[in-house]
Amino acid sequence: ISFSLSLIFLFLALYIGKKMTNQAMRPIIHSFDLQQEFIANASHELRTPLSVIQAGLDIIDLEKNSLSSFSTETLSDIKNEIRSTTQLVNDLLFLTRSDASQVEINNTEFELNDFLLNIIRPFQLIASKKHQTLTLQTNKPILIKQDQEKLKQLIYIFLDNAIKYTPEKGVITIQYNLNDMQKKPKLNIEILDSGIGISSSDLEHIFDRFYRTEKHRSRTEGSTGLGLSIAKSLVSVLGGSLTVKSQLNKGSKFTIKIPIK
Ligand code: ADP
Repeated sequence: ISFSLSLIFLFLALYIGKKMTNQAMRPIIHSFDLQQEFIANASHELRTPLSVIQAGLDIIDLEKNSLSSFSTETLSDIKNEIRSTTQLVNDLLFLTRSDASQVEINNTEFELNDFLLNIIRPFQLIASKKHQTLTLQTNKPILIKQDQEKLKQLIYIFLDNAIKYTPEKGVITIQYNLNDMQKKPKLNIEILDSGIGISSSDLEHIFDRFYRTEKHRSRTEGSTGLGLSIAKSLVSVLGGSLTVKSQLNKGSKFTIKIPIK
């Protein structure tokens, strides 16, 4: 009897426990969904006025010769602000969509060296302004199948950060290797920089949304704290993983591992 009673109590406790957890969780999940929906809608609605403002500024820009130098400078400031706000809005929209697993994967075949060389070219220009060297360590040509756009967006985030967080004359390298000995071949891409590095206490937070280390909490550097959380979402959409190793004042190494065909 006591065994049966304990079994009944156990089931009863489990049932009540589950019900309470469900009830307690429902408002949390519900409010999270509402929050996501609100961010998605607000970001979406903001895109139209932003593109109208951008178009208006482009028209004024055509007549900038007739503007005073003060107005030209103000125009350029407004354009920069609009560009970063548009980026922020796009980032927020991407994050809410990727959360809802509404991201479409578009796999195509391409040659990896050419793909990476094309990606780094514009960054080499930006890096050269800081007298940094940015190089790609190429391997023999190889065709892979992946979502080019997402992979490109992912590498952009790391290169952008590497340049931003590496002082003048620093060195940035991008290298890759293929691990095709396994059943599911993987591409490992590493982005290394000789920059300011990240402390171990910050390392565990840098992939969180809006997280910026103490030093970079000003918006002047175009820092929003969203880049790495987008990278994390992109990698998970591609079915891969992300790791980072870093040492303060020495530099950082970000490794992207993604499955390829
Ligand atoms: P953002 O660069 O817009 O601030 P991220 O999410 O890309 O946002 O990065 C989060 C934080 O991680 C940055 O604010 C910066 O402090 C740190 N970080 C990212 N990449 C690097 C890097 N390569 N070197 C040093 N710190 C970095």
